Amino acid sequence: MDKCSHQDSPKKDWLPISNGAMKQHPFCQKCGIVRNISSDRGKDVGYFINSLAELTNYLEMRGYRISKAQKRLIIKEFEENGFGDSYSITFSSQKKGFTEIVVRHVKVSKYLVENFV
Ligand SMILES: [Zn+2]
Repeated sequence: MDKCSHQDSPKKDWLPISNGAMKQHPFCQKCGIVRNISSDRGKDVGYFINSLAELTNYLEMRGYRISKAQKRLIIKEFEENGFGDSYSITFSSQKKGFTEIVVRHVKVSKYLVENFV
C-alpha cells in the first residue's frame, strides 16, 4: 500500500456515523480516503511499536523471546494492511488488527496481547 500524506478536501461528503445519523466527513483530496471523525481516533504506528516493545519485555522476563525479525514482520504486516493510517482508521480496528497479527507470529493469547495495546 502506497503511503499518502493525506490532505483534507475543501468540500465534505455526507456519510453516516456509527449511530446512523448523517454527518459531513472530510476526505483526502489526493487519495479519496474518508477521514475518521469519530471519537475512536486511530493512533500512529509508534504507539503499536511501543506496545510490542512492552509485550516483548514482559515475555522476556518469563523466558520467551520475540526476535527483532519477528517484530519487524509484525509492524510491516500492520502497516501493509492499512492499520497504520491514523487518518482514516479507528483505534478499535487497529487494536483488533494488531492483536490478530501478533498472535499469528508469536505463541501468546489474544487476551495477553490486548493488555499491552
Ligand atoms: Zn490521502
